[in-house]
Amino acid sequence: MTHFTNKVAVVTGAGSGIGRALSVELARRGARLAICDVDTHGLAETEALVKAAGADVKADHLDVSQRELVLAYADDVAEHFGVVNLVFNNAGIAFTGNVEEMSFKDLDRVMDVDFWGVVSGTKAFLPHLVASGDGHVVNISSVFGLFSVPTQSAYNAAKFAVRGFTESLRQEMIINKRPVKVTCVHPGGIKTNIARNGEQVEGRDHDKLASSFDKMARTTPEKAAEVILAGVEKNKARVLIGADAWILDKFVRLTGPGYQRAVSSFSRRSGL
Ligand code: NAP
Repeated sequence: MTHFTNKVAVVTGAGSGIGRALSVELARRGARLAICDVDTHGLAETEALVKAAGADVKADHLDVSQRELVLAYADDVAEHFGVVNLVFNNAGIAFTGNVEEMSFKDLDRVMDVDFWGVVSGTKAFLPHLVASGDGHVVNISSVFGLFSVPTQSAYNAAKFAVRGFTESLRQEMIINKRPVKVTCVHPGGIKTNIARNGEQVEGRDHDKLASSFDKMARTTPEKAAEVILAGVEKNKARVLIGADAWILDKFVRLTGPGYQRAVSSFSRRSGL
């Protein structure tokens, strides 16, 4: 028996990266899985891996930015399994560009997926998690939910907002004695396709951005999944992933707003 045996876990953005690694690790630990993604090909690959690990799995195409679809999906998952215990609001996208270069459409797109997708997933599943008597909301923010960097204003805004929303929810669940735990996750650089799949304003070199990310990302998605599940088992309020996340978190807390000078000077020198 593990902490996750027989529990029903929902993973958004399960077709790649952290979402896939979480799904496979949850399957290995005996969970039943509802996995979803906009990438049907990636989702089918994850479904096969999860089945090979012996899990009962329901796989669906879902765009988390479509609120009505997320609400219907939550009811569908609850009806299918009879209960929902965990939701991992993990789906996310990257976008690079200065505020002056970005259109409102660019900003909206990032907020719709990275912030509103998390809010919709949380709100849609919350009644089912409460009804389970043993629920857990796990929202994936980022180290970029702890400090800001140039060219990432939209992503920074979304990830700070996920952190604020999630930390408030955790306190409400405690005050209102709801049987739902809440964890906010802040990964450092994880070796996934997020930068390669990401978009940018015109004139920015996609391949350069992606290969710089590949050089900086040190932690595997499998390790990230292990750290997240250990944090969930311990009901941690905040989970940091990777030495980079720990070091940057400490640096930002020590320097206060002064971190901005160091980060912008690094960005200028590295051309990022
Ligand atoms: P990834 O490998 O790109 O996986 C994300 C998955 O989410 C992809 O399959 C993607 O599909 C899917 N997705 C995108 N938009 C969606 C939508 N609207 N609805 C449903 N699914 C959608 O990225 P990852 O690195 O594993 O990222 C997972 C989470 O971790 C994200 O929230 C990300 O912001 C966060 N994170 C990542 C890192 C890192 O270094 N990798 C660091 C901090 C935080 P497509 O491939 O079709 O876009």
